[in-house]
Amino acid sequence: MLVTILTLFPEMFPGALSHSLLGKALGKLWDLKVVNIRDFATDKHRTVDDTPYGGGAGMVMKPDVVDNALKYALSLYNDMPEIIYMTPHGKILNHSTAKEISANRAGMIFLCGRYEGIDQRVIDYWKLNYNMREISIGDYVLFGGEIPAMVVIETSLRFSAGIMNNKTSVEEESFANGLLEYPQYTRPTFWNNIAVPEVLLSGNHKEISSWRISISEQITQSIRPDLWQIYQKQHKSTK
Ligand code: SAM
Repeated sequence: MLVTILTLFPEMFPGALSHSLLGKALGKLWDLKVVNIRDFATDKHRTVDDTPYGGGAGMVMKPDVVDNALKYALSLYNDMPEIIYMTPHGKILNHSTAKEISANRAGMIFLCGRYEGIDQRVIDYWKLNYNMREISIGDYVLFGGEIPAMVVIETSLRFSAGIMNNKTSVEEESFANGLLEYPQYTRPTFWNNIAVPEVLLSGNHKEISSWRISISEQITQSIRPDLWQIYQKQHKSTK
């Protein structure tokens, strides 16, 4: 699976993506191509941005330069990859979007904006003609799309075959079944005079499993009432 990054700061990659399980799989189960958007500028000063029409602060990334970079990235693929513009205007990333993206075996292209963002015309054009998605990592603004792209890559690749040692842990983690995961404990049995919940020491797998479901339900209800409401609706409709 090929992941292509279009950025004005190529030196930010692979960065965090070269560590741990993702790093071990890099070059084996997935490949990373980092493309400098500046290489697609057409003037001798290699200009990638200009002042906004209508005035206002900051600079806007030029549509012709971004379009050339996207066309080049797309030419690296035989099949249609996911093309993703990281933007605060996008759909907020969640478990199911990450899973959906990971299902595209061709791979992913990430367009990382900087400054005030990218000229709207090239965004609209690629959404209309190439189904480009817009994804946000939350309701706040960062300086650029590189860290958001890393977040999407890390969470999507966790679903890819072979990257996680243990497939069941993805399926049991928070959000997989609509709930937050149960709390985890390890040795020692007593720490700071606080004991590990007794049921976890019982060796009774059935009891452990029902304790985990029940505590997952309790914490989801108290911490994330929004998730709890959806979970309850789904469970009522399957009964
Ligand atoms: N002027 C834009 C606005 O107010 O919506 C913000 C531009 S931001 C400073 C520059 C770039 O950072 C964006 O084009 C986008 O690629 C990236 N970015 C910033 N916040 C983001 C977020 N929450 N999710 C995804 N990308 C983000």
